[in-house]
Amino acid sequence: MKITALIVAAGRGTRAGGNFAKQWQDLNGRSVLETTLAVFQNHPKITSLQLVLHSDDLARAQHLQGVSINTGGTTRNESVCAGLEALAENYPPDLVLIHDVARPLVTNVLIDRVIAALENHKGAAPALAVSDALWLGDQGLVTGTQDRGGLYRAQTPQGFHFGAILDAHRTHKGQAADDVEVARGAGIDVAMVEGDEANLKITLPGDFARAAKLQDQNMDIRTGSGYDVHAFCPGDHVVLCGIKVPHDAALLGHSDADVAMHALTDAIYGALAEGDIGRHFPPSDPQWKGAASDIFLRHAVNLSRKKGFIISNIDVTIICEAPKIGPHADAMRARLGDIIELDLDRISVKATTSERLGFTGRKEGIAAMATITMLKS
Ligand code: MG
Repeated sequence: MKITALIVAAGRGTRAGGNFAKQWQDLNGRSVLETTLAVFQNHPKITSLQLVLHSDDLARAQHLQGVSINTGGTTRNESVCAGLEALAENYPPDLVLIHDVARPLVTNVLIDRVIAALENHKGAAPALAVSDALWLGDQGLVTGTQDRGGLYRAQTPQGFHFGAILDAHRTHKGQAADDVEVARGAGIDVAMVEGDEANLKITLPGDFARAAKLQDQNMDIRTGSGYDVHAFCPGDHVVLCGIKVPHDAALLGHSDADVAMHALTDAIYGALAEGDIGRHFPPSDPQWKGAASDIFLRHAVNLSRKKGFIISNIDVTIICEAPKIGPHADAMRARLGDIIELDLDRISVKATTSERLGFTGRKEGIAAMATITMLKS
């Protein structure tokens, strides 16, 4: 079963304030758009993502991975239509879930409810019964009341059998509030599933703070630690955190023996409960002989991204009597920052000796420890 999430993000979102469209603004360290994409990317039943963007925003989206992009039209309807046509042309799915990018707090549970309802209906969407009393008003005065019976607030994702909603959009004339209206106009039955109060749509400036607070309540915070040791062998330099440091010995190892980067990589795997470097890159495999260790680190970072985590900070400690680490520490931080794509004020590389005690004290090798904190909201 092919299920595509069609994320509509072509709007300008000017009511939310800020200097650029709301989907590109920050929500707890990640853009609203990336937060929304991550939910669908991490959902086990979603097989592909189609993202509809404004043509002005294409450059901003260059770094996005695992998502097909097309440009939208001047209205939401036109944008959805453009996304559906792109899917029809390339890889038509069985089901499509059409979702507003401005609802980043959508959950797997809600997505599952919509998908489950599509087994028996050609359309399904989340709804919340209106619980507040409803008034009519004019010029600051209440002028009447409105029966709330049978009234619902609509949310997204709105899910459909792909062929049915494609035909509905192709024949739809004029504007529509959402895709349910388009579907119903074409005679498609749309089932209501229970919505989620937390699945709010960021619309006004205050909504960012509300969304961030709700997100904090569900934050998955992980800590990982890594430790590694490599022995010295004859040579004239060591590689630490990707930086070549002149020394009267080298480090012995299957790869480039970058003990510090190995400790850091293991810290990431540790936080994810994904074993260690040896599990992902067996030393018995000759292709890793002499390999630059950033391959391992990049793999661990990509794995954390795939699982929806962002790295909050890292702290690496290198333990040796020599070489001196201090003069190279900033270059090491910068190198790690490039690989991990993390700001320098979140990266620490420091060193200590072991007061000439033990194997590092006897200058038999170098040890390294690393701690990492990762967040998923
Ligand atoms: Mg190692």
